[in-house]
Amino acid sequence: MQKRNPVTLLHVLSFAVIFLALYALSRVNYLLMHTLVEMFGIVVACSIFMIAWNARRFMTNGYFLFLGISLLYIGVFDLVHALAYKGMNVFPGTDANLPTQLWIASRYVTSLSFLAAFWFSRRALNPPAVLAGFATLAAFLLLAIRLRLFPDCYIEGSGLTTFKIASEYAISVFFAGSLILFRRMRREFDPTILALMVGAVVCSIVSELVFTLYIGVYDLFNVLGHFCKVISFYLIYKALIESALNKPYTLFFRQLAEKTRELERSNEELEQFASIVSHDLNAPLNTISVSAQILRERHAEKLDDRAKNYLENIVDGTMRMSQLIKSILSYARLSRQAGPVQQVSLDAALGAALMNLRSMLDACGGTVEACSLPRVRGSEVHLIQLFQNLIGNAVKYRRAEQLHIRISAEPVGPNGAGSASIWRIMVADNGMGIPPHLQERIFLPFERGEQADRSDSSGIGLAVCKKIVEQHGGSIAVDSEPGKGSRFIVTLPA
Ligand code: ADP
Repeated sequence: MQKRNPVTLLHVLSFAVIFLALYALSRVNYLLMHTLVEMFGIVVACSIFMIAWNARRFMTNGYFLFLGISLLYIGVFDLVHALAYKGMNVFPGTDANLPTQLWIASRYVTSLSFLAAFWFSRRALNPPAVLAGFATLAAFLLLAIRLRLFPDCYIEGSGLTTFKIASEYAISVFFAGSLILFRRMRREFDPTILALMVGAVVCSIVSELVFTLYIGVYDLFNVLGHFCKVISFYLIYKALIESALNKPYTLFFRQLAEKTRELERSNEELEQFASIVSHDLNAPLNTISVSAQILRERHAEKLDDRAKNYLENIVDGTMRMSQLIKSILSYARLSRQAGPVQQVSLDAALGAALMNLRSMLDACGGTVEACSLPRVRGSEVHLIQLFQNLIGNAVKYRRAEQLHIRISAEPVGPNGAGSASIWRIMVADNGMGIPPHLQERIFLPFERGEQADRSDSSGIGLAVCKKIVEQHGGSIAVDSEPGKGSRFIVTLPA
């Protein structure tokens, strides 16, 4: 899979343009700019939470789930902070102290959540418990601010308090702690996600340091601090998208590919097992068969009629068993005999199958009528075998009257052959037909009808057809009326 850079030049340019516009706006109407910037942060924080929450079942890294949940509450703090901002007049009787306290509370929660999230990068996390934990913490902090238990952060006239400035440094140190942990635990993270998260933390630190510098809540440093925070949230959002959506898919496909390889391995083992067992069975079977034949030919005069009959049964039985072993082998080795996948003309495949069946058809005087057939992608060897098995069965299960086989094709799709995505190929005969209760079963290995009690029937032919058709991405079904005939319908992708 091609690696994409999650932050492109277009992102950088877009942010630059937006920030210039917002800075210009801040000169005209600071409050509007502040509200817009905070709203953006709140929307991003809530989006992160929604993605993390909904993807919680398949998020492989508890770090992001924890951080995602924390951001819901950080969003709530930021919302109250935006509403309490000086000039909004949502909470009467308050000054710039309240929004600053809310800001500091929110940043403490953010920076400490960043640190606590590492704890969960290797551990199972209980999302509802984390959600409840944060709700309690948020309620506690809001209550502390409301009851004036939270230290003052801004005093009108003198500006930022020592607690506020010291807190910004403390918060920066917590964020720096995250950077150290990212370095230590870098193997736990995908490089792209790691780069995004380091970027987010660096922006948060810059934001905190810039916030130690402002004097008035409307000045340039305040604007810059908010911008850095927005970029930081955006980078967390990108990292989360990578972690919650893109990577699990990659992981999913990797696991799928591994499972396919495992399946192929076990198929190969099964094939080998079938080959060995068939080979080993053949040797004693040959001994029995040859001995019975010698007995029948050289010692016939010493045997009475009953003994000759038993001997006949033994010879018949061994021949049938040998036929069965051959069928099992051909079924098991089917995928190995596929040959290259290429564009195959079904007309040519049918022609080859008819050539192989010529003596059989001549012997019964059967006629074959074929329409023009399409080209499909697949294995020529297998498609010849498909026709051969279906036409061979029509010959085997014919009735007394003259056999007639009809082969046709039609596109499946609204606009005909040109836009067909699937071809339906039909092989119809006027033979014995198949009783309804057998029509689905005959595609299973070793399933035979009552009329198939012959030495040349193993019940494998249609199972082979099914396997071939499915390997080509198609399907096979039968439509039959006993005593009138059968129609085998094969679909193949165009
Ligand atoms: P086999 O022919 O070796 O028995 P197949 O898997 O080819 O095995 O077919 C399974 C059964 O389906 C057959 O035993 C027969 O009863 C029935 N069958 C298949 N093709 C036809 C057909 N064209 N007409 C009637 N019966 C059929």
